[in-house]
Amino acid sequence: MIQLYIPLGFLGVLYREIKQGLTDLEKMFGLMEREREIADQPGALPLALEDASATALKANAGNASVSFRHVQFAYEPARPILHDISFDIPAGKTVAVVGPSGSGKSTLARLLFRFYDVQSGQILIAGQDIKQVTQASVRAAIGIVPQDTVLFNDTVEYNIAYGRPGADRAEVEGAAKAAHIHSFIAATPKGYDTMVGERGLKLSGGEKQRVAIARTLLKNPPILIFDEATSALDSANERAIQAELQSVAQNKTTLVIAHRLSTVVDAHEILVMEAGHILERGTHAALLAANGRYAQMWALQQSVE
Ligand code: ATP
Repeated sequence: MIQLYIPLGFLGVLYREIKQGLTDLEKMFGLMEREREIADQPGALPLALEDASATALKANAGNASVSFRHVQFAYEPARPILHDISFDIPAGKTVAVVGPSGSGKSTLARLLFRFYDVQSGQILIAGQDIKQVTQASVRAAIGIVPQDTVLFNDTVEYNIAYGRPGADRAEVEGAAKAAHIHSFIAATPKGYDTMVGERGLKLSGGEKQRVAIARTLLKNPPILIFDEATSALDSANERAIQAELQSVAQNKTTLVIAHRLSTVVDAHEILVMEAGHILERGTHAALLAANGRYAQMWALQQSVE
């Protein structure tokens, strides 16, 4: 019995690791029930990017621009979701997307990560259609800080190193310091060996986001997607996290799905989405001057705050 138990136990661990890896991504995108259908084209090559990353934290974006060109998309044929979406994120710049719930903001992120292929139009990274290159290379180029970070039932070190499997303790600590979570971790009795997740130490929303930021810093991709948390962090924590995100995004090509307008003020361009269309677009100042939907949203949010 014991002989049988050991290999099965090992398989169990392996299965758990693979399953958790998938669960993380699926949960991020709310795709738990869905099978992914994207296949690489025969002979597809990896995305060719300037090697701007090296291993230094916060390296720049190199040539990794992002462009959506006349993108149309529907999850189900009868219900179009995105209509003729075009925008550019020049390498190293930030574009923010705002708009009501259901307007299609997260769908843009899912398409950029190539969870689905567009029905017509193109998405380009560094001028290359992401349909024509390998899915793995597209995902390797993108880091995501999701709304709600999934933690594995494993150590803090494992959870941070997940951003770059094989990273050593010094690299994990470096990322944790940059994400301002190191002193919190160091103050726990077992430090980086502390178990977290459902069966371990529970982290607050803000702490989980810092773990996600540390993961992303370790991965150090040229392109970032931030899906801002809607869940209430206290406002001091929220401001601190926003400052962290801004510093991570510096020199990266960044798509921010924003729920609070205060975070989009400095974006290169703001897209105001409504029902799958871009209703308005421009810088914060230009959109305020246009006195349209964005200006209304801004006034409303100011009065609430
Ligand atoms: P929120 O701010 O609430 O996150 P959003 O603007 O990000 O909303 P999306 O998640 O992009 O909105 O959803 C756009 C539309 O697509 C919604 O009407 C939603 O119901 C639909 N949708 C999202 N995911 C799927 C799916 N997997 N299958 C079918 N329809 C979907």
